[in-house]
Amino acid sequence: IEVIDRGASLVLSKLTEAGYEAYLVGGCVRDAVLGRPIKDIDIATSALPEQVMSCFPRTAPTGLQHGTVTVILSQGTYEVTTFRKETEYEGFRRPTSVEYISDLTEDLKRRDFTMNAMAMDAVGVVLDPFAGQKDLELGVLRCVGAAEERFGEDALRMLRCVRFASTYGLEVESSTWQALLAQAPLLRHIAMERVRSELQRMVEGTAPARAVRLLLASRLTAHLKKQLPLPFERWLAWDDALDAVSALEGQHDRWAMLLMLLEMPADTVRTALQELTFSRADCEAVVAVLALREAVAAQLMSGASQNAAMVPDPAPLERVWKLGAVRRGEAAARALLRLLSVLPQSLEQRGELARFLQTAAPELLRRGDAWLKEVPCFSLKELAISGTDLAEELGRQPGPWMGILLQQLLERTALGEIPNERESLLLAARAAK
Ligand code: ATP
Ligand code: MG
Repeated sequence: IEVIDRGASLVLSKLTEAGYEAYLVGGCVRDAVLGRPIKDIDIATSALPEQVMSCFPRTAPTGLQHGTVTVILSQGTYEVTTFRKETEYEGFRRPTSVEYISDLTEDLKRRDFTMNAMAMDAVGVVLDPFAGQKDLELGVLRCVGAAEERFGEDALRMLRCVRFASTYGLEVESSTWQALLAQAPLLRHIAMERVRSELQRMVEGTAPARAVRLLLASRLTAHLKKQLPLPFERWLAWDDALDAVSALEGQHDRWAMLLMLLEMPADTVRTALQELTFSRADCEAVVAVLALREAVAAQLMSGASQNAAMVPDPAPLERVWKLGAVRRGEAAARALLRLLSVLPQSLEQRGELARFLQTAAPELLRRGDAWLKEVPCFSLKELAISGTDLAEELGRQPGPWMGILLQQLLERTALGEIPNERESLLLAARAAK
């Protein structure tokens, strides 16, 4: 196992020399067996936390309530957890109290899926009492033990199931899947934060479209702790577009694309993302893209464009695009162009979004980038005058009027009506007064 990780190998030998059992466990064994890159390394041992601490000069008690000690080596830090079983599960979540045990197999038994319940010893021998390797060969994701019970103990495992099946390209074994369908309503006991974290990893992963399809088939999204105002079933109508999501690299782009396909107002999406405990920055970055598209689309609709085949008049489109980019930010405008560029052309959908894709999108793809290049400044910071300048030049008391006037000047500058120069801006400000 030195080839996997030199530091981990040192931790295992040290513990074994001291007379304890010690193994790599969990995700790192799975990834090593699959020949995939290894993320974090987890080590399990028969040594009690104090015993682990006495084996190494530098340790940190990072999770004593779970029996976890972090061993600090020059090669890195390693989480070492005493063999344990989770005695009782409370409220369909994993417990906070644990019982230490001396048997590795018992420790592996509490783990969620067979591929996550393998261990590797100091010389690289894989211990696999639940046949995880065989399941990996079969391409199957299977619960350890009775699936219905396991999902009942900890409902988060159902989301992990969808995540692992999608990111590792596995079929969910049929009794595991049946159990998931039966236990899906228990998801309502899981904190939205943990749900969000799993969803993020699905969307970030290698197969977001597969994750979405499994999620819909599982009906898990119908059983969240907080009901979200999003019609997830609409994803079913956007099969090709779902497949295009993985062509987007950024997390924000992927979320923006998925949420755009739900065809809900940007403000409703914001509410949903807040319920899901997304950070403010994530939330605003994604919502800005949707709001920008909404503004462009609204402009198109207000023109007499009920005719689906109509090509938009470029002048108003240019105007609303530039204004939108200033109001929602350059980043949102660039993101929207990336979304449009990966969306398949042959869309047979109906509705507002489809019409947008058929009419405005080709024109934006053709000219949107050039239009952005013409915009001299996207934010007040870049504008050649400040609020203080305005107050001084116009001889007025500072106040909220400054922000309003600055925004007007910024937008006119963006549209090329005023050059981004102090004198011209002041002239325009006097005229506007
Ligand atoms: P990744 O880090 O790629 O998400 P992982 O398998 O390492 O995959 P972790 O969440 O880091 O996942 O957990 C480490 C190990 O702990 C898992 O491999 C599994 O054995 C066990 N485990 C984690 N969460 C649960 C759970 N909810 N129920 C049962 N076992 C779990
Ligand atoms: Mg891990």
